[in-house]
Parts: sequence; C-alpha cells; structure tokens
Amino acid sequence: MHNVVIVGSGCAGNTAALYAGRANLKPLVIKGHEAGGQLSLTTLVENFPGFPDGINGPDLVENIKKQAERFGAEYMDGTVAEADLSKRPFRLRVEKEWIETRALIIASGASARWLGLPNEQKLIGHGVSSCATCDGFFHRGSVIMVIGGGDSAMEEANFLSRFGSEVILVHRRDQFRASKIMLDRARANPKIKFLTNTVVEDIYDVHKGHVTSVKLRDTSTGKVWDQEVGGFFVAIGHIPNTAVFKGQIDTDPDGYILSKGGARTNVNGVFHAGDVQDRTYRQAVTAAGMGCMAAIEVERFLEAEGH
Ligand SMILES: Cc1cc2nc3c(=O)[nH]c(=O)nc-3n(C[C@H](O)[C@H](O)[C@H](O)COP(=O)(O)OP(=O)(O)OC[C@H]3O[C@@H](n4cnc5c(N)ncnc54)[C@H](O)[C@@H]3O)c2cc1C
Repeated sequence: MHNVVIVGSGCAGNTAALYAGRANLKPLVIKGHEAGGQLSLTTLVENFPGFPDGINGPDLVENIKKQAERFGAEYMDGTVAEADLSKRPFRLRVEKEWIETRALIIASGASARWLGLPNEQKLIGHGVSSCATCDGFFHRGSVIMVIGGGDSAMEEANFLSRFGSEVILVHRRDQFRASKIMLDRARANPKIKFLTNTVVEDIYDVHKGHVTSVKLRDTSTGKVWDQEVGGFFVAIGHIPNTAVFKGQIDTDPDGYILSKGGARTNVNGVFHAGDVQDRTYRQAVTAAGMGCMAAIEVERFLEAEGH
C-alpha cells in the first residue's frame, strides 16, 4: 500500500515527487511511455527560472527526478493501463501488476498532436515545435510557418509575428475553425500570410540538423513546391492523457481534468498537476508549480485521514 502514487514523470510529476518525498511520504512515480515527459523531446529551455544560460529539456527534467530520488521518491517503468477510483484505496494496473494507494496525483500531461511527417520527430527541438511561447524567441528574423486553422493557430501566428520576418499560416482547407475575432486579428496582421488548401508533405533538412525548408502541396491544383522556413510550429491541438480515467474523473469534453479548486478533482484523494488540467499556460514552470500544489494537497489530505 502506497501513501501516494504519481502518474507521469514530466515536470509536474517529478516536482510532486520532490515535495511528497520531502514530506516523508515515499511517493511512487509511474514513468509512463514517455519518461521525462514533453521536455525530454526538446533541446534548449530558456524560460525555466534559475538557469541564466538556459538548460536542455532532458537535463532539466532528469535533475528534478534526481532531486526527488534524493528524498526517497521511487520510480517505476510502465504505464497505467487501468484504474479503479471508485473506492479507497485506489487501484491502478501497471502492465500486469495492481498497485494500491491512499492518494493519487494525475500528472499524465497532454501530448501535442503532430502531423506525422517523415522528418517531423527528428527535427523537434531543432526548428520544429508545438509551443510558440517556448520557442518563438529562437526564430528572430526568420520566416516562420504555423500549421492549423483553429484559435490556437491564430494565437501562435500572432505571437510569432513579433519574432519572424514573416509568418506563413498553412491550413489544409479554406474554412477555419477559429473564432471570427481571432481570425480577423490574424488577417489584419501585415506580417501573417495565409496559405489555404495547402498541406505540408515534409520538412527539411535532417542532415543539416535544423529546419531549412518544407515541401508544400496545393490540394486543389496538385502543385508541389518548396518554401524556405526557419521555424515550423504545429498548432493542431493537444490530447490530454486521461483515457485511462475516463468516466471516473470529471473532465471537459476534450478530456482535460476539471479542477475543483487548487489541485483537487471531483474524487476525494485524487489530485491533478500540470498540462493534464491546463489548456491555457502549458509551461514547464506552471506544471512544476502545480506539482508542488498537488503534493501539498496530498500531505494535508493524508494528515486529515490520520495517515
Ligand atoms: C517540443 C516542446 C518544447 C517545449 N519547450 C518548452 C520550453 O522551452 N519551456 C517551457 O516552459 N515549456 C516547454 N514545453 C512545454 C512543457 O514541456 C510542458 O508544459 C510540460 O512538459 C508539462 O509537464 P507535465 O508534467 O504536465 O506533462 P508531460 O511533460 O507531458 O508529462 C506527462 C507524463 O505522463 C506520462 N503518462 C502519460 N500517460 C500515462 C499513463 N497512462 N501512465 C503513466 N504515465 C503516463 C508520460 O509518460 C509523461 O512522463 C515544450 C513542449 C514541447 C512539446
């Protein structure tokens, strides 16, 4: 029987483990399919406080893990495949093993949707990104491409126009899901050029180790051409990793956990941390902050329960 199990080993999960460890709770962290979370995909992180020269994403998240292990946090390989939150202790199945816990922190993140292009994954952190706030600054003065037709694509394009010489917004249709106000704002921005009925076929140049250009195809004429770009931002949404808790935890229609204040969910003893509940900020520092909040909530919950 564990005091607290933490689902996910990104910034949120590792920070929750650090705080729970220092509260003597001996937390168990289930690493999941992507140990280290989304930061393990990227290169330089320049906006996490405390690192004046920046720090590589994988190093940052590994450092938090080591810090948590120093205070007794344990890490387990595997993914939570099934959960029973109907009664306490809560039960989680990791591969073939059932684990029991008095309290649970869900820090399973929200994975960015990618286009699935042949070179896309190889160039993440080298010009390909899903986060304008994180990586826009690296592309000052270059041509930046944004993919998508919803509000987040418009918001990212507007934000990136502060950095790029030009922002090209590529959308596969000529109708947009974005709200009128967001679309009008992007259309009124002289630095944003729209390319509709257009899809990206691939991104180059893996050999040079960074993004140099993309191959585009006009879906109405079939015309194919190359376009030089320095930054490539995919803004087609995120998928919160909550499928395994479906029907047991209140979520919004997209699957993000609905907060009941602080780090609380609708289930007493189950807490949320990080991007799994946050569709607004999605930053390492906010995820870490919420990991701290969740661990403090767990401490108080267990104390009140007499553990
Ligand atoms: C390319 C890229 C660059 C970025 N750059 C920056 C940056 O420069 N600065 C910044 O502040 N932010 C950046 N971000 C955003 C930042 O990475 C996220 O906001 C942050 O990682 C969220 O942390 P999290 O712990 O909530 O979730 P995640 O990092 O997504 O971690 C989720 C964890 O949950 C695990 N998991 C999922 N499902 C299960 C399951 N069923 N069972 C067990 N475990 C599970 C996963 O394996 C993973 O370990 C970037 C994101 C990307 C994709």
